[in-house]
Amino acid sequence: MPVPAANGDDPKLIDGRALAATVREEVAEAVAGRTGQGHRPPGLRVILANGNAASASYVRGKEKAAAEVGIESQTLRFDPEEVTEDELLSTLARLNDAADVDGILVQLPLPDRIDKQKIIRAVAPDKDVDGFHPENAGRLMTGAAGFVPATPAGIMEMLRRTPEVEIEGARAVVVGRSNLVGRPLANLLLRRDANATVTVCHSRTRELAAITRRADILVSAVGRAGLITGDMVKAGACVIDVGINRVEDDTRERGYRLVGDVNFEAARKRASHITPVPGGVGPMTIAMLLKNTLKAAEQRAS
Ligand code: NAD
Repeated sequence: MPVPAANGDDPKLIDGRALAATVREEVAEAVAGRTGQGHRPPGLRVILANGNAASASYVRGKEKAAAEVGIESQTLRFDPEEVTEDELLSTLARLNDAADVDGILVQLPLPDRIDKQKIIRAVAPDKDVDGFHPENAGRLMTGAAGFVPATPAGIMEMLRRTPEVEIEGARAVVVGRSNLVGRPLANLLLRRDANATVTVCHSRTRELAAITRRADILVSAVGRAGLITGDMVKAGACVIDVGINRVEDDTRERGYRLVGDVNFEAARKRASHITPVPGGVGPMTIAMLLKNTLKAAEQRAS
């Protein structure tokens, strides 16, 4: 029986913060159960090799969330000016072999001189809790078990925990085809445990509105504020807004606020369910990363 979504007073709102808290509690319980049986806590290592403020803040969020659920996490910080490809490869080789490490994350982006694909391929697939290794991408595409990137996994979890949204047989439209969100999500929706009929749209799609208007489940993962207007939403659709965009806002101290790709107020009027930004997909991402790390520890122990 799926757990109903906690959505405060608004029955249309899919509350990512509340759902993420539930997922984190479940992970914490499972971790406590394992340590109670004498297992060591799941171990996570994060490699941070860029000077990006957003990445640093995201990594701090991961560390804090991991600690709260009992996952032992450490961040390995490299000077973005000095770090070499060899240094990262040898670090990954060491982490791949380390008995107390279950999950490895390489925070992107990496400095331009470093071959990102080479680094992603150097993470052992059974420790690749980001699900970016080609082996895990291939497993996802062929319907085999493996690690799934946290954002699309979080979106599926949100849909599953909103029991009024029927995924089976639904017409799902995913706007965006990135390896991080759009493509893996399309594959998840297609799998036999979801059974949606999936259309993927992108920057060269013609007549986007005509396609989105047919969607029972509409997901936008583009990164363009205002892309999805109210008239692009079918009445009764479930709308998942993955986009995170800054728009100028003089009323805020920092001078901007965060919005999604969807015109929230207009879409909300037509939708049966909708995710807010912030407080929608974002919080689910870290929760799913913790869930993936727990899964890695369970699989390695068995
Ligand atoms: P990306 O730039 O890699 O991909 C964007 C995609 O949008 C591309 O496939 C492109 O073809 C498509 N696109 C661009 N313009 C379009 C248009 N006019 N019409 C239709 N499609 C168009 O981005 P990404 O990494 O997939 O991220 C997308 C958005 O989601 C960003 O705003 C990002 O910040 C956000 N994001 C949020 C989370 C989260 O946890 N909430 C996680 C990852 C990404």
